[in-house]
Amino acid sequence: MNTERTEYDAVLADPAGVAPREPMRVLVAGGAGYIGSVVTRLLIAEGHHVTVLDDLSTGHADAVPSGVELVRADIADAGTILARGGFDGVLHFAAKSLVGESVSDPAKYWRTNVCGTRALLDAVAEFSVPRLVFSSTAAVYGEPDAIPITEDAPTRPTNPYGASKLSVDMMLAGECAATGLGAVSLRYFNVAGAAWGAGERHGTETHLIPLALDAAAGRRGPLTIFGEDWPTPDGTPIRDYIHVADLARAHVLALGAATAGRHLICNLGSGQGFSVRQVLDAVTNVTGLDVPQQVGPRRAGDPARLIASHERARAELGWAPQQGLADMVRDAWDFAANLANR
Ligand code: UDP
Repeated sequence: MNTERTEYDAVLADPAGVAPREPMRVLVAGGAGYIGSVVTRLLIAEGHHVTVLDDLSTGHADAVPSGVELVRADIADAGTILARGGFDGVLHFAAKSLVGESVSDPAKYWRTNVCGTRALLDAVAEFSVPRLVFSSTAAVYGEPDAIPITEDAPTRPTNPYGASKLSVDMMLAGECAATGLGAVSLRYFNVAGAAWGAGERHGTETHLIPLALDAAAGRRGPLTIFGEDWPTPDGTPIRDYIHVADLARAHVLALGAATAGRHLICNLGSGQGFSVRQVLDAVTNVTGLDVPQQVGPRRAGDPARLIASHERARAELGWAPQQGLADMVRDAWDFAANLANR
């Protein structure tokens, strides 16, 4: 049995799924990574034609579903694919995304995230691709003045990763005005979970939920809580977690909503905050296992509280999150267990 197909059918059967629209031909840059591979699955389930471009520096070839063409190349070579013509859109996930690494090796972040994207945009313009959806991040905001964070909040990134993503958002604004491109920047909050057989497989894992699951399963040592002296009810930082399947739906909606000459920026979060301790409780509830843990010092650059306003995504894209923290933990748990049993 072709299980992948069955999973796609389940996506299509989901009445809360994205409404059917004309099939598009799209390039997914970074489609072998975590979020790109989930979005690729949804695009295919929705009937779109997908080509994946990925240099496999952090992605995995087997994360690309069978039947989808994978071109292993640098983002700067996107033109060789777009030159084939007929592309209706680009979804751009190809980036370096480790905050700590961006501090120790900023050049890598400017080169890949900014110069790489510039080359991609040159190809998009040269081959007249009409729309682009970009993976931006809540890291562009830095320490917020007010919660929930709207798209009009001040942008004061506290690390080169956030600065590189903000630079691309700014680049896109000019690009849309000058060339007629229709672009949407989606500013992700804390993405978690797995969907349709794809999930998080980072060589260097820094995210709370996969680390907590691994600690609970005994696949790694105790989880270190980065400080419990924060100005929050239980002393641990609060984040807005969003299920990767909800995030994927927003991308497909954004592709349809991209309008010539307009740059739209939308936050993607659930609008709800959970502390580190609440996440660890959710892990225990879902898995029935305690999370071995210790308390360490604060991590440099961590804000106390990040919660999205997603009112704009609701209004502009017709999007609303459908899954909660327990769904994310459960799906990430199942995915990690499958991976461990391979
Ligand atoms: N965190 C933690 N221990 C870890 C990893 C993360 O206490 O080993 C905390 C971190 O301080 C933050 C939250 O978990 O408050 C989410 O961190 P993550 O790295 O997953 O995402 P971020 O919010 O930094 O993008």
